[in-house]
Amino acid sequence: MTAPDSVFASDFKEEPYWWEAARPEPDDTPLPEHADVVVVGGGYAGLSTGLELARGGVDALVLDAEPAGWGASSRNGGMVSGGVNVGKGVALEPAERNAMLEEAAASFDHFESVVEREGIECHFQRTGRFVGAHSRTAYRALAERVRILNESARSEAHLVPPERQREEIGSDYYRGGMVVGRSGGVHPALYHRGLLAAARRHGATVCGGTRVEGISGGPGTFEVKTSRGMVRAREVVIATNGYTGPLTPWQRRRLVPVGSYIIATEVIGEERVRALFPTLRMVAETKRVLCYYRPSPDRTRVLFGGRASFAPVDAVTAAPVLHRFMCQIFPELRGVKITHSWTGNVAFTLDHLPHMGVQDGMHYAVGCNGSGVVMMSYLGHQVALRILGRTNRRCAFDRAEFRAIPLYDGRPWFLPMVGASYRLRDKIDRAMD
Ligand SMILES: Cc1cc2nc3c(=O)[nH]c(=O)nc-3n(C[C@H](O)[C@H](O)[C@H](O)COP(=O)(O)OP(=O)(O)OC[C@H]3O[C@@H](n4cnc5c(N)ncnc54)[C@H](O)[C@@H]3O)c2cc1C
Repeated sequence: MTAPDSVFASDFKEEPYWWEAARPEPDDTPLPEHADVVVVGGGYAGLSTGLELARGGVDALVLDAEPAGWGASSRNGGMVSGGVNVGKGVALEPAERNAMLEEAAASFDHFESVVEREGIECHFQRTGRFVGAHSRTAYRALAERVRILNESARSEAHLVPPERQREEIGSDYYRGGMVVGRSGGVHPALYHRGLLAAARRHGATVCGGTRVEGISGGPGTFEVKTSRGMVRAREVVIATNGYTGPLTPWQRRRLVPVGSYIIATEVIGEERVRALFPTLRMVAETKRVLCYYRPSPDRTRVLFGGRASFAPVDAVTAAPVLHRFMCQIFPELRGVKITHSWTGNVAFTLDHLPHMGVQDGMHYAVGCNGSGVVMMSYLGHQVALRILGRTNRRCAFDRAEFRAIPLYDGRPWFLPMVGASYRLRDKIDRAMD
């Protein structure tokens, strides 16, 4: 029984809505003693590495401490694009920024081609994305972003003035916005499941329930100690993103795990969903602490995500906070209950950019900065190409400079303070309108 004024539905679950269709499953795949390449982490990045290595005839072993897909890759919002967020809020030389945006545009080509080539049924649709401006200043700044995205990332973007906003969203909350045409939505857990099946079909071995506890040796002679025994490998790849732990202290000092939270509403029906999302696009905002939301793939519910808290809280505590955020945008959802609430970790970097490279003889692809469905899949693929020796140019995200966060050892003590200051600046922007 729930209290009548509770935001929770009587069948509320503290787990991803996506798991109703594709829950990460435990497996009992035998652990081999040798592999050419051991990949640590079985999310999009790790599986994409395993998939491409296997296609290239290399014996790849992907290990995950939990059932493969248990991390962010089955928990995210499923909003996909070719670099809408790359370089956002970062001071980069135009040439470098453009190279990254071109690469981000290529990452979207890669995502679409893998989904098609491997026949992954994951409700992928190029719906486009509406990015709402939280202030008039933010709206004006979007004009420059539209120009850059169209010039370098083939984004098919355009501005939406405030008087036409209702064509995009059933809300007057924003001060206009931008539409990014070359983007869409996907069922993230089905996409993960499809990648997993493809990696296995092409010959990669994927073992869930296998925590990597230590790595010694070097290229050619790695010894990977796991919770299920030792594996020898020529190469090792680290693909642990927001779940990077003491196993790899170098990466840990460069990645800040931040919890992101999502709720799913009860079924409200396609008519009401279309009233809120007339174009059925994915939605995000220009705020520093942004909310992101979308129709469910079957168009009967609203899925609403954001940073409910910068201190770690459970998904039950986060749910009423997100519900309140959602009702600020869509007041008509006030009486609508929540059936699912969940959380997962993203990984922020000091320069807000994703990174791949080699450290201590091990390859890595990490640092999604909150947008990694397409990008982490792509970086995992790029790592595989590098191991296979099938690339003759350096990926724009393979940069020598990857700075550690000062005074940081993996415990993000500063997050509540930084988060509060970001929120305050968002409020000031709006108040200044
Ligand atoms: C709530 C939420 C919403 C998001 N929304 C979006 C979105 O709409 N669009 C978008 O583009 N991105 C979004 N993201 C980001 C996106 O989900 C991630 O960037 C992406 O899934 C990262 O994939 P990955 O393979 O790098 O890491 P993960 O999928 O997190 O996988 C890392 C894995 O490493 C494993 N691991 C860690 N340590 C070890 C060890 N020692 N041994 C073995 N295994 C280990 C973990 O168990 C975990 O499964 C969101 C993320 C979250 C959490």
